[in-house]
Amino acid sequence: MLKILLATHNKKKRAEIKSLLKNFKDIEILNFDDITIDPPQVVEDGKTFRQNAIKKAVITSKFFGGLAIADDSGLEVDVLGGKPGVRSSRFSRTNATDEENNEKLLKLLEKVPGKKRKAQFVCCIALAKNGVMLETFTGTVRGDILASPRGKNGFGYDPVFVPQSFEKTFAEMTALHKNRISHRAQALKQLKEFIEEHRAAL
Ligand code: IMP
Repeated sequence: MLKILLATHNKKKRAEIKSLLKNFKDIEILNFDDITIDPPQVVEDGKTFRQNAIKKAVITSKFFGGLAIADDSGLEVDVLGGKPGVRSSRFSRTNATDEENNEKLLKLLEKVPGKKRKAQFVCCIALAKNGVMLETFTGTVRGDILASPRGKNGFGYDPVFVPQSFEKTFAEMTALHKNRISHRAQALKQLKEFIEEHRAAL
């Protein structure tokens, strides 16, 4: 059984990742609640999702003494030059709630017409072993930002984001539906393929 520590404190993100990897044979995904030592504090000061994901995975895998994966993700809005980007979780302030971040985003886009409200969710997952980075995997999903939130599922910016070719926001979709098309699902699919291919060496 291959044990992989998932380096995230975000419970909703953790649930999505665990659910997406649950049918992955002979792999056990552990999180910080499953281990007895306190997890390392990692300052997310990278300029890109990739830099932050690598930092979290490398530090955590070194501390854990094995394999670790970390996800760094967020929303990039075209008309805002890619913001909130790596600052997605703290867009309105440090420790902001999802509601506060959505409110700030909708206020900034108040006068932006429908056609110009294009955005994308990006997820970068890094895999590291014993403090050494092995690979990164990136998934992207494009869509539109609504004028007001809709739906109660998911987390973060899900209530204001409608993925391209769909009518519902991520927050109006079931977890199963979101997990078929999301940026995180795409990145995890690549991670699975990598692990299957390199399993003997891990
Ligand atoms: P991180 O924990 O630094 O990676 O922050 C990710 C932030 O990006 C979250 O707190 C959300 O605000 C946003 N985000 C990332 N993925 C999603 C998603 O699937 N749905 C909605 N918001 C997301």
